[in-house]
Order: sequence, then C-alpha cells, then structure tokens
Amino acid sequence: MFSFHSIQQYHKELINSTTTCVAAVDFFLARIETSKHLNAYTEVYAAAAKERALALDAAFTNTGQLSGPLHGVVIALKDVICYKDHTVTAASKILKGFTATYNATAVERLLKAGAIIIGNCNCDEFAMGSSNENSCYGKTLNALDNDRVPGGSSGGSAVAVQAGLCMASLGSDTGGSVRQPADFCGIIGFKPTYGRISRYGLIAYGSSFDQIGIFGTQIKDIALILEVIAGQDDYDATVATEPVPAYSTLTASNKPLKIGFFEEALNHPGLDPVIHKGITAYFTDLKAMGHTVEPVNFGLLDYIVPAYYVLTTAEASSNLSRYDGVKYGYRDNTPGVELTDFYKNTRSAGFGREVKKRILLGTFVLSAGYFDAYFTQAQKVRNLLFEKTKLIFKDFDILILPTVPSTAFKFGEKTDDPIAMYLADIYTVYANLTGIPAISLPLFRHDNGMPYGLQAMANHFSELSLLQLSQQLLKQ
Ligand code: GLN
Repeated sequence: MFSFHSIQQYHKELINSTTTCVAAVDFFLARIETSKHLNAYTEVYAAAAKERALALDAAFTNTGQLSGPLHGVVIALKDVICYKDHTVTAASKILKGFTATYNATAVERLLKAGAIIIGNCNCDEFAMGSSNENSCYGKTLNALDNDRVPGGSSGGSAVAVQAGLCMASLGSDTGGSVRQPADFCGIIGFKPTYGRISRYGLIAYGSSFDQIGIFGTQIKDIALILEVIAGQDDYDATVATEPVPAYSTLTASNKPLKIGFFEEALNHPGLDPVIHKGITAYFTDLKAMGHTVEPVNFGLLDYIVPAYYVLTTAEASSNLSRYDGVKYGYRDNTPGVELTDFYKNTRSAGFGREVKKRILLGTFVLSAGYFDAYFTQAQKVRNLLFEKTKLIFKDFDILILPTVPSTAFKFGEKTDDPIAMYLADIYTVYANLTGIPAISLPLFRHDNGMPYGLQAMANHFSELSLLQLSQQLLKQ
C-alpha cells in the first residue's frame, strides 16, 4: 500500500523499486474520489496524470535514474495558475471554460523537473477572500471540521495537502492567501520574496503584491520545489536576478538567531487569547534553542490592512478591466445592445459580489477627486513600511507573529461583515506590502481542537534562514 511522507522518502522507494509513480497517482486519485465532498479540486486530470506516471516509470526502468529532482512528485495547482491546454478560471464565472494557451513559468519548471500535475484546486474568485466562500464552484470544506472554512484564497490547494490528496500544491499569496489557509488547515504555507518566483502565467490580482507560494507538510519538500521554480525569467521583468541557492540541501541548521516580535501585534484586541498565550509561551522554547527573542517597536500595525485594501483594490480594478466579454470567457449575448451596455451586462453577470465590490473600491480610490486622499496616502504607508523593514532587519534575523488572529471560523460567520473578514489578514499583509518572505508553521492546537500556526518572516531573499529555522522548529 502506497503512503507518502516526504519527496526524499518517496524517491528512495522509487529507486529501491518498492513503489512506482503509477502507485502514487492511483493512491491520490482514490483519495480524491473519497474526499469529493471537500470540493478541494475543480478538475482532476486522472487520465493524463496516470499516463505521465507510466511514462516516468518507463523512463526510470530504462535508464535506472530519476528524470529530475521532482520525478513523479504529485502536485496540485490553484485555479489561477496556467497549465497549457487545461482549464483555468480563477474560480470565476467570467472565465468559465477558458483554456490556458501556455504554461506558467512555475508549471513549465515543475514539468521539466518531472512533476505530475494532478489537478486544479478551488479558490476564492480572482484570489479575493479569506474563506474560500467566494468561488463560482462553491465552498471548499476544512477536512478537520467540515463546518469550518479552510481559509482563503488558496483554500482548495491547502485542503488538497491537508487531506492527503497530493504531495504538495501551489497557491498564490497577495495578502496571506497561502499562509492563512495553511494556518487554518494545520500544514506549512510558504510565500517567498516578491520577485523570487516568476508571475508569468499567474492570473493577476494585485501585481505588485502577487507571489506564487507553496503548501506542503515537509520543509525539505518546500525547499526543493522552491529551488526548482524560483529564479530569473525572461517573461517576467519583476523576477530578481538574485542567484537561487540550493535550498533543499541547506535546510539543516541550528544557528542561533536574533528573533523579534511586534508587541502591538500580540496585544491586539482582535487576537484570540489562547493564540496569544500559545505564542508567547513558545518564546521560552525558542530561547532554549539558543535564539534571542526581543520586542520590536513597530508602530504601524493599524495602517497595514487599510493600506493593503486601498492598493490591492486599485491594482485589481486595473488588472480585471481585461475581462470585458470581448477577449475571453463569459459574454452577455443580449441582442442589439450598445457596446457600453454589453460591457456592463457581461461584467455584472460574470463577476461575483466580492470582486465587483473590490473593482468599485479600486476605481474609487484611483478617481481624480480621491486619488491623493487614498491611493497616495496608502503608497506613503507602503514607503514607511519599507523603511521600517530595512531598520528592523539591521537588528534582527527573523520576525515572528501569529499567522491569523483566530482559528478557522465557521461558514457564514464573517460573510456579512467585510471588516471582520479583512481583519483576518492583519498579520499576513505586512509581508506582501514590503515583499519579504514569510512562512506559517503548524505548531499549535487550540482548545477548540483546531490548529494554528506561528508565522516567521525574514529579510528580502533570506528564504534560506526562514527554511532553516522552520525545519528546526518543526523538528523535521
Ligand atoms: N484575504 C486577502 C484578500 O482577500 C488575501 C488574498 C490573497 O492573498 N490572494 O485580499
């Protein structure tokens, strides 16, 4: 019987011929079948995955060698990442039935490294949301408690890993959409530095924030996938030229680190007291490992959620203007209407409520009369955050925070209260506003039985120290 622990272990078994890629794919397909109620996948590529597994097994039999660092690794993609000749819809009616005409760079590199893409995962429409309740495919359920949300927006990708429906998955993180669902599902969620992974082929939400992220259960697996997909790309000028370290072979380290925390984040009235207690008590463990843990004077916490929502909605209103019914996807077919009515009808029916709200808000903050009051102010906050971050990482190696102020909430609990929903992002958006890498580690369990994570952040391109600390804390 196949079982999955880590890519390393799986590869050992492939080399010893105690398992095959076909056995792995069959195993995950069977689990996906019995977990359909979770609604983690929007599409499963059963036949193609099986065919690729057979080809990989044959190649191994012929050469005696694995074809690449991700040979036979079964990976799921969020429905915002293009996989050539496969449907990609951003969980939106406006893109229903749209087929990707090219591979995202991340997908191209996964395939080249030997990975098997098993399916497409559910998410919030255009990656806007924190609960996966804004999807045209319906909600994804948290596998630990089906009455609770899996988090969002990459809820399907998180549940695919949580429920053992793939080995690892890709999501996108614009304001926390990988780390927050990872926290709610009790797995690892990692967002690299902005510019570490190409955004080519990632459907845009807020282009100066968006970054592909990785879900998994093992730091080494995440490090290996990062190593494969990171690095310069001719198709995305925002990707850094910074060399890609051999992350996967360097994760073991017990180096003492200077760790900082934002006191105002831990004392925030919205933070669940159990989470507060769990995280502060953990400082003792960190110190026992030889790290120092000290408060950092931040002072900007109250500004980050408003700045994030002003800037991302502004970018979204521009990015989503391309969905007009002319070029792709859904179009209104009412005969004899004026062009502007055609756009209006198409976009009114094609977009969901949350997306429409954000397009309106984004258009408003960019409008002539309000630009300076909102957009410029928010850009100023972003600048202050950059400056502050530079200072912080002069003195500290790592910052720690809770990932989310609460554990996974119940369906419907926050749908009528957008402010409460947006505040769920209070600890995650800082990393996107400044572009620094961040990770959520499944270290804790709440009295209510649900997991919650510790979030760690590091300076730009210091993914390695983040992965090293993570491996130490997770004792992997
Ligand atoms: N919850 C945040 C939002 O709705 C984050 C989304 C994301 O990271 N894609 O904007």
